[in-house]
Amino acid sequence: MRFEVLREFDPWKGKLCTCPSKYSLQPYTNCQFGCLYCYATSYIRQPFGPKKNFLERLKRDLRKADRTKIINMSTSSDPYPWVEEKLLLTRRSIDLILKAGFKLLITTKGHLVARDVDLLSMGNSAVMITITTLDETLAKKIEPAAPSPKLRLNALDKLRDERVPFGVRIDPIIPGVNEDFEELLKEVLERGAMHITFSIYKAKPDNLRRMATLFPHLKSMYKRGVKIGGYTYLPNEIRMEIIKKIVKVAEKYRDRYNFTYSFCREGVVTGAPSCDGSHLVSLARSL
Ligand code: SF4
Repeated sequence: MRFEVLREFDPWKGKLCTCPSKYSLQPYTNCQFGCLYCYATSYIRQPFGPKKNFLERLKRDLRKADRTKIINMSTSSDPYPWVEEKLLLTRRSIDLILKAGFKLLITTKGHLVARDVDLLSMGNSAVMITITTLDETLAKKIEPAAPSPKLRLNALDKLRDERVPFGVRIDPIIPGVNEDFEELLKEVLERGAMHITFSIYKAKPDNLRRMATLFPHLKSMYKRGVKIGGYTYLPNEIRMEIIKKIVKVAEKYRDRYNFTYSFCREGVVTGAPSCDGSHLVSLARSL
């Protein structure tokens, strides 16, 4: 089926992707947050901006799309760039999507998602907020124009208070940079995160160039890496060490907090109902 703005989610047919069949939707082209590790910069060349006639095109797509599939907003540009505060393009899209009876998963670093809890709490939606560190100085270096970790943590509180199911992506975990994530995990679990998705940094030539200016050790580390689906993964022994560490830390908190966890494109299955948090959508209304 051909759509105007909806896309079948397909991370380059990555063989390690375990996402359920879903639609991907980006109201904006490109992103304002400028994360050094961003994967999308390797294929999005257009300047940042809202998509033209987006809402009209979305309305037409929604008439013919499959309502059993989740719409994930967004997978390659953040749905809450700073201009969203004025433009309300994401907000209006949420309204259209939920009123048309679709299920919605929001993935974002934007604290502005908390503004839309009135719509999201109507049901059939869940939110995954990406937080990579609690260290504000480090966050400013690796995600220079994104909302601060503090703002994102506050957004989690608002989602919890308004009973919108939410999880956190601790993604990417960068070796020797933010590998020490236990405090972050504990913090988001304390705030009620119901699912955690972990993923280890995967290099693309352009993001590795940016990252290596601040963290030169990454260059030699990834030089010895493994190519999988268009990315360079860490050498297996280092990657497996980090995965073991993640599992150990996550399992440590399993009894104390009620949460599931998964890995994104690491080839590791944990038994969570989904890797991307889409199962949280079915918990909406039951909270
Ligand atoms: S928020 Fe996501 S899409 Fe935007 S720059 Fe950061 S990694 Fe890239």
